[in-house]
Amino acid sequence: MTIIIDGKTIASQLRTELTEKVKNMSVKPGLAVVLVGSDPASDVYVRNKAKSTKEVGMNSFEYRLDASTSEADLITLIQDLNNKEDVHGILVQSPVPSHIDYEKIVETIDPKKDVDGFHDENIGKLVNGREGFVACTPLGCLKLLKTVIPDLSGKKAVIIGRSTIVGKPMSMLLLNESCTVTVCHSRTQNIEEECRSADILIAAVGKAKLVKKDWVKPGAVVIDVGINRNEEGKLVGDVDFDDIKDIAGAITPVPGGVGPMTIACLLYNTVKAAEAF
Ligand code: NAD
Repeated sequence: MTIIIDGKTIASQLRTELTEKVKNMSVKPGLAVVLVGSDPASDVYVRNKAKSTKEVGMNSFEYRLDASTSEADLITLIQDLNNKEDVHGILVQSPVPSHIDYEKIVETIDPKKDVDGFHDENIGKLVNGREGFVACTPLGCLKLLKTVIPDLSGKKAVIIGRSTIVGKPMSMLLLNESCTVTVCHSRTQNIEEECRSADILIAAVGKAKLVKKDWVKPGAVVIDVGINRNEEGKLVGDVDFDDIKDIAGAITPVPGGVGPMTIACLLYNTVKAAEAF
């Protein structure tokens, strides 16, 4: 029987634990989310993040800036937030307008408040296996994986996708867990064969139903990070769920898998930042 990894419930349990923790903290954790411009998808993400932040009893600070905001003004705002005692986590929603260098903005965030885990200092810590902030989506994937494989040591993991926000940090997290890691991408040859060798298969591509039955080793744990819209406008992952659901040992659904864990891990990182304050 294939286990369906219920990300919604696991994320809700993590939020409940965080709510309890926040109640007993001497400082109230605060998350500042900055949105530049009015991208509709980003607007929904920012609203959901603010709602979830308040629900666990933390302070949410929203900064909605006009699309014409200059890079210099955005940097000044980040520097102000770096110095604010009631702000423990800072997140700049991407994408930002093209006249702004997103990487420069991320590097302006105090690494101790970089709850997205995108700052070079935190990426360096992850590579070196040191304590820092880990990007929320791969961190959420790891937490989901551990619900079905508590000890990942020696497992063969294949990640499809090499982005800075998912694939690369995911590979480092799994390497730090003593997995044998392969990262596949758009130029990988014999990708099906690579994937079929995996005990753990993580798909982070952005292509609906790319991963089919013959890509999956029987009994493998499959984590589907992809968020795509199908012809009917419904959300689907990178994995053909119906095709592989009888062959995989465990699988995350889309929606209701990795997505809810990403936000819960953002809250987790913010609490961690406030604890270290
Ligand atoms: P990205 O576009 O930055 O990277 C995609 C990667 O897939 C690239 O490394 C590319 O080489 C690889 N790729 C493209 N086509 C391929 C193919 N045919 N075969 C193999 N590899 C291929 O994307 P991203 O930001 O990493 O996001 C990936 C997906 O995950 C998207 O659907 C995105 O919406 C989703 N996502 C979900 C969450 C969440 O919380 N659930 C968070 C972040 C991203």
